[in-house]
Amino acid sequence: MKIVLSYGLGADSTAILLRWLTEPETRGFSLDDLIVITAQTGDEHVDTAILVEQHIYPLLAEHRIRTVQVARGGRYERDGIVVLDDTREPILCLTSGGPYTLADEMEQNATVPQSGNRAHSIKFKGWVIDQWIAANLGTDEPFVHVMGYEADELDRIQGDSDKGLPNRLPTYPLLSWSWDRDACEAFILSVLGVRWAKSCCVRCPFGYAQGSRDRTVLRLQRNPHQAVGALVMEYLAVAVNPRQGLLAGKQLYHLLASTPGSQDLLAMFEDRLDELPWAIYEVRRAFSAKRGDAMARGTTRRSLRRLVTGTRAEMVAEIARAAHLLGRRLDSDGRHYRVWARERNLLFPCVEQALVAAPALAHDKTHPTFDKAWQAGLLGPRQLALAL
Ligand code: SF4
Repeated sequence: MKIVLSYGLGADSTAILLRWLTEPETRGFSLDDLIVITAQTGDEHVDTAILVEQHIYPLLAEHRIRTVQVARGGRYERDGIVVLDDTREPILCLTSGGPYTLADEMEQNATVPQSGNRAHSIKFKGWVIDQWIAANLGTDEPFVHVMGYEADELDRIQGDSDKGLPNRLPTYPLLSWSWDRDACEAFILSVLGVRWAKSCCVRCPFGYAQGSRDRTVLRLQRNPHQAVGALVMEYLAVAVNPRQGLLAGKQLYHLLASTPGSQDLLAMFEDRLDELPWAIYEVRRAFSAKRGDAMARGTTRRSLRRLVTGTRAEMVAEIARAAHLLGRRLDSDGRHYRVWARERNLLFPCVEQALVAAPALAHDKTHPTFDKAWQAGLLGPRQLALAL
């Protein structure tokens, strides 16, 4: 039976691999049957790739373990997946990903990855790996799918155990070994003599949680090109929705601006904003009420439309002119520029509508049920009755 290890490049799955290689009695299968697979989002920190190339790939090559790297082929499932590498002699960890990366997805949607919703993780990792397995191992013959969840991640294990392909037999070695993150890191340190950096996307909201934040900022300062990409994504998302930000609604920009050593990086970011094409977008949101509670927000439906494009200076001038002509205030914090045509109110359902200036990276997109939600949220007799 084939054993497929989802190799996320982090300490957890690295520890599993290393233990199997250094303590063969812990694995109970032949290495000929092992497949190590990584789904590349295109957004992994570059220092993780360096660690993998220096310490893990040489071991996999020495043991001639089949090592596969895959990525999404495009925005839609019909675009399939791309096999970036499939070899028993891996050398390069292809963290720049495939033709459609997590950064593309976030920029095209003018948003940031949401910590409360791992849909993007399934889209860029779980789904991609399932496609490769289905195409290469089939969907009939059982295979063992090894996941690197830590022993104390029981919720994730429970959530994972009945997911995926019908012939999947999920297994969680760290749970059977009672290894948590500290145990994994200590084991790697004892075998390789290195401290394993946390593996995650540069744009990952979990990388900015308290406890990881300082280390992530240091990584960004060392790799300013990756940091600039994350800042551009955040800038666009905040322009379209001021309540967004990579740090659970707060902005990475502000964190870096208040951290010594970030000045060059922020100057690069400003240069990048100057280089990009810009646009003025119309963004409309329709908010429903939670059932039975007009003070609580239910679902949000959005419509985003690009109206005009030009340089950054042209679009900032254009939106200031639009504010004047519409008799509205230009809403600006000195970095973002917005004109509110309609502002949301305290009661739901309600709507909001704004013109915003931002890099022309987002695509037009209107949720299929937006029009209905918009009509329901406009100020009408029902809303007036609630308010008066
Ligand atoms: S952003 Fe974070 S949660 Fe999302 S795929 Fe990347 S590492 Fe996983």
